[in-house]
Parts: sequence; structure tokens; C-alpha cells
Amino acid sequence: MAKITLSNLRHSYEANPKTDQDYALKQIDLDWDDGGAYALLGPSGCGKTTLLNIISGLLTPTQGQVLFDGRDVTHLPPDKREIAQVFQFPVIYDTMTVYDNLAFPLRNRGMDEATVKQRVTSIAEMLELGDALNRRAAGLSPDNKQKISMGRGLVREDVNVIMFDEPLTVIDPHLKWKLRSKLKELHQRVRATMIYVTHDQTEALTFADQVVVMDAGEIVQIGTPVELFERPAHIFVGHFIGSPGMNVLPCDVQGDTVRFEGVEVAIEGPVKSGEGDLKLGVRPEYVSLGDGPLRGEVIHVADVGRHNVIDLRIGQSQVRAIAEGAVPPIGQVMAVAFRHDKTRVYRDGHIVSQPAGGAV
Ligand code: ADP
Ligand code: MG
Repeated sequence: MAKITLSNLRHSYEANPKTDQDYALKQIDLDWDDGGAYALLGPSGCGKTTLLNIISGLLTPTQGQVLFDGRDVTHLPPDKREIAQVFQFPVIYDTMTVYDNLAFPLRNRGMDEATVKQRVTSIAEMLELGDALNRRAAGLSPDNKQKISMGRGLVREDVNVIMFDEPLTVIDPHLKWKLRSKLKELHQRVRATMIYVTHDQTEALTFADQVVVMDAGEIVQIGTPVELFERPAHIFVGHFIGSPGMNVLPCDVQGDTVRFEGVEVAIEGPVKSGEGDLKLGVRPEYVSLGDGPLRGEVIHVADVGRHNVIDLRIGQSQVRAIAEGAVPPIGQVMAVAFRHDKTRVYRDGHIVSQPAGGAV
């Protein structure tokens, strides 16, 4: 295992990149701590696979360095990096048995057959492939093939990192949930550094201790699932995580006074001064009805099972609230409050309000 450092990384697929737009990765500086369970979360095309391929050595970055425990491996080929990578679609040997597929990475390193057997059996058990060990991989269903692929990634104990690139894409929904919790369990058992790439917030939040959120070739926030939910550092994170996402509203800031639709609202703490486009951010979970300084008209109500999502019109803006209990009728005008310690101000997308009593 190793600590992996990405230093001053940029990557472009173009021969002569000029502007930031030409870069798939714009600027990445990041440490992956030894033994961590990480998720790399972001929309399709934001650069997740590019980043993984740079860590594994399938790609050489246009600029910057990859370090394993401080050692520069930027120009080391993949097979010298001691890394396991599981791809989106199964990469297996169809003509071999399941057992031989799982044993391959171990035999390749000259491991004795007794240890191979013990490792293969235990991984197969975990992935519920135990009954299929003697079957040829060719005859198996796509999800079983992907399980083999994952098993091949998990079977070695001596890797620096195990990386999963959207591994559950081809897996049946009910099995997805199961494999995800298995991976988490496995991480707790083997304590290998794992990087789990996904565009699905549920997958990221259930698997990882630390979630790295990417957008358009940049890291916008790194945090625990709770931190990302409670205090999004960027409007993108507020939107992308949570269901429905954070309300992003116009606001007017004069000194320490923040107004929304002409009404003064309390926020978490002082706002750092500066120029730029200011927005108020508050999650629907922290918008409450029945009391407060704002007046909102109910324009839509959706029953989503555990609670209701209520759309309100406040002045020129639309605000979402999550509410339990009785559903107000459409057209009703209600008092609305934003929970002040959960209400933030963003400038040009980045958080600029500070928590009361402490700098962040
Ligand atoms: P993700 O895995 O987050 O979906 P990728 O890393 O695959 O994103 O892609 C990031 C960006 O780089 C996208 O704009 C994509 O079109 C581009 N890209 C990816 N692979 C290549 C390639 N081999 N050649 C040119 N452009 C690529
Ligand atoms: Mg990808």
C-alpha cells in the first residue's frame, strides 16, 4: 500500500492545448491516503477515467507528477505500478474457468498454488461465485462476468491501490446494492486504498469515507458524505449531491446584511468581501414552513414517499422545501424560514460565507 500524490497535474488529449477548454484535467493536486476508501464522483465527461488512467499509468499526464509514497512514478509503465484496476465492462479470459481467471493475477506473480487456492476461494465466496469456479467464463451472464473482473482486482493483497471505474454499470440493480456493501465490507477487512469512480451519488456516499467531487476537469470539494451534504463548498456540489439539490437563489449583500427578495435573512456567519456573482444556498431540508420572515405561495407538491417536496414562489424566485406531515393546498401562502446556520452565500460558485465563530 502507498500514499498516492497527484501534484500539479494537467492533461489534454490535444496535441497543442492552449486554453483551459483544451484540458480534460485542468489542475489537480490531491493526496490519497494509504488505506482510504475514496469515491471519485462527478458527471459523465468530467475527467474521472482520465484521472484513473494517469494513476495506473495507462496515460502519461501532459503536466505534473504522480507519486507513490513520495516516489515519482509518472513515467513508470502500468505493470510496474502494482495497481489493480477494474473497468466499466468486464475484462476477463472467456476461455478460462472462473477459477483460472481469478488465479491469473496471483500465478502471474509466481504465488504458490496453495496460497492461490486460498485467496481465490475466499474472493469467490465473497462475490458469490463459489459455485461457478469450474465453469468457463464464456457461458456466464454479464453481471457474473463483471464479478469475475472485480474479483481479479481484489484478489491480490500486495497492490498500492485498487481502482474501480464505474464497475456496477452492467450489474443488475438489486445486485448493485449488494456488491456495493460487499466492497465496503471488503475494504474494512483488507484496508487497501480503494478508489471507486462513479457518477451516482448514492454509490459514492455509501461506499466512501472521503468523496472527491469533480466537475469539468477540476476537483470542487473533498469531504465526508456528511460534509458534502451539510456544507457544500461549491454550488455544483449543492446541486449534484442531495435529492432534490440545494436551492440556489439570488441575493443582495450589504456588509453583514443579506437580503433575499427584499427580505433580510440570517445566514451562517460573515461573508468575505469581494466582487462577483452572489448566490444564496440552502437545502430543501432546511427550508421550513409555518413560521419565518418570508412569504411563499405553494405552487407544486410532490409526494416522494417519506416526505413531500413543496415548490414555493417567493417574490420572483422559486424555492423548494422538504416537509413532513400535512400537505398544504396549491395556492396557499405560507410563512417560510431558512435555517440560518445552514444558509450560505456563494460567489461565482464558491462558498464565501463563514461559519459563525470560526474560520474555515
Ligand atoms: P469521465 O470518465 O468522467 O466520464 P473522461 O475522463 O472519460 O470522463 O473524459 C474527460 C474528457 O476527455 C471528455 O471531454 C472526453 O470527451 C475527453 N476524452 C476522454 N478520452 C479521450 C480520448 N481518448 N481522446 C480524446 N478525448 C478524450
Ligand atoms: Mg469514465
